[in-house]
Amino acid sequence: MPEIIDRKMAIALGMKRYFTGKPCCRGHVAERIVSSSFCLDCDRENRALHRVSQREYQRRWYLANAEKIKERSVSRIEYQRRWYLANAEKIKELSHTRYLNNPQKHAERDRRWRQNNPEKNKALRRKANLKRYLKVKIALKTLETLGVKL
Ligand SMILES: [Zn+2]
Repeated sequence: MPEIIDRKMAIALGMKRYFTGKPCCRGHVAERIVSSSFCLDCDRENRALHRVSQREYQRRWYLANAEKIKERSVSRIEYQRRWYLANAEKIKELSHTRYLNNPQKHAERDRRWRQNNPEKNKALRRKANLKRYLKVKIALKTLETLGVKL
């Protein structure tokens, strides 16, 4: 148990806590805080209570406003979507300019991506090759139907 000292003495000594040895209004025998004269146990209880009520308050507020919150987040997504559509050309242009301004950096990034995603890269290459192959095949077919002999 700490030394018994009253609040006045604690203030005079510049202490933050004091101990009377007497139970508080809730029956705790504990050190008290000079500034509030709460005992430490009461203070702890108050704080816990406050935390719970704060959380409860937030929960109720959220439930009461769930619709509004949902609406707001939907409209934000919708807003972003519209903004993107309205600015698609500008965005494309910008990213292209950025690419042209620093092709080395982008080439480096692409190279690193290929290194980190060899499987994806292989699939992409296969797709590109197939596309090229089909293009050539279609071109040959067109020439054939046109009666052009190679
Ligand atoms: Zn108390």
